[in-house]
Amino acid sequence: MKPTIKVNNLSVAYNLGKSAEFWALKDASLEIYQGEYIIIYGPSGCGKSTLLYCLAGLETPTKGEVLVDGDNLSKLSGKQMEYHRRLKIGIVFQSFNLISTLSVLDNITLPQVFGNIDREKRIKKAKILSEKFGIADFLHRFPKELSGGQQQRVAITRSLIYSPPILLADEPVGNLDSNSAEITMKFLSELNEKEGKTIILVTHDPHYLHYANRVFYMKDSKITKVVVNPKKVNKSYGVKGEITDLEKLSIMYPYLTETKLKAKMILNHLLLPHGIEVYDKIEEVLDRYLLRKITEKDLLESLNKPPINLYVQTARKLTEKAVKLFEEIEELEQEELSEITPDEEKAIILRRLLLDRYQGDLSLHQTERLKGVILKRIKKEIMRKDLQRILDAPIKSGGVGLNSRTAKKFTSEIELILMNK
Ligand code: ADP
Ligand code: MG
Repeated sequence: MKPTIKVNNLSVAYNLGKSAEFWALKDASLEIYQGEYIIIYGPSGCGKSTLLYCLAGLETPTKGEVLVDGDNLSKLSGKQMEYHRRLKIGIVFQSFNLISTLSVLDNITLPQVFGNIDREKRIKKAKILSEKFGIADFLHRFPKELSGGQQQRVAITRSLIYSPPILLADEPVGNLDSNSAEITMKFLSELNEKEGKTIILVTHDPHYLHYANRVFYMKDSKITKVVVNPKKVNKSYGVKGEITDLEKLSIMYPYLTETKLKAKMILNHLLLPHGIEVYDKIEEVLDRYLLRKITEKDLLESLNKPPINLYVQTARKLTEKAVKLFEEIEELEQEELSEITPDEEKAIILRRLLLDRYQGDLSLHQTERLKGVILKRIKKEIMRKDLQRILDAPIKSGGVGLNSRTAKKFTSEIELILMNK
């Protein structure tokens, strides 16, 4: 299969040769296949729009070339370029660029006015598209009477008036509230899945990356990596061979640094012998457990059986952790609910200070005891030596069960803080 878009060593400089010379794009090479949904992702100013406009033929390469269906855009005649912009691609922008004095109908068909298509044909096409894309109800309204989300839907419909196979979108939901943004992103996804449109979307928001088949990461005017969405692997072309776990993770956690991703990967290998495909499902059942929709037993069972299929040991470990987390949440909620005396508050804060620096692992029971004994000391119900003895004593005989060194250390710290108040 041949790529529909091929970019070879593309570089773009603004103000070339002047003191303000700036390379907005450096040596970018990529291939995009018909039917793919590509997201170009990176921080503001990294060159995303520049790359997109090169694909549209709106920006001229300083070096390198852009081929669309085999045609080098730089070599197109004026007429051929017009054809490219009109019939091969549609473009949508962050600001919808609708004309406020024209109705939705006239906005949608505007490109055809310039294409010298007669009014009757224009209206017919607009009606078909507006039915299909769910904007038929407001064909005769004006842009300002529509919500932002509806306006973007109109702008997207306009970009498709000539039925181009490729849709370019530059931060198309950047101006929308999160609800309209999500609806618009779903709409674009449908255009990709149902209409087979190739979508190339620019965003700086990691929140939307999961819509893509592949993500091109950009930084400092360069494409730094290309990552396949693990959930859409079979829809992605142009990538051969195995996708590493690191790549899979980087799309699930696009906001993590490489080092943090590596840490996650190691953890993942230790915890999940089955790979990360089951991550989402595990998250789902854990979430249900934390929302108290299922019991501890259900949780353990779900983790142990298909589709998650963790080894029973791993499932148990994970369940234990979830139970502890659940208890901590409950305890916190109770603390917040019940009236806390000033002394109790001090005890809780003191405990937090101690545990923040403590490397070991205390059970919930131990932390509860710890709070109790600190409270007693604050209220002067016990003396310093009692404090140390209780911290040191085994849990069975009513102590906190710390080792002697920690008990001694905790005691000095508590005394130090209490004396200082
Ligand atoms: P992005 O879309 O990732 O935010 P752009 O591609 O718009 O980034 O811009 C990349 C860099 O090029 C930015 O630093 C921007 O200031 C600069 N730039 C963009 N267009 C021009 C221009 N016409 N003249 C000079 N500099 C420009
Ligand atoms: Mg931009």
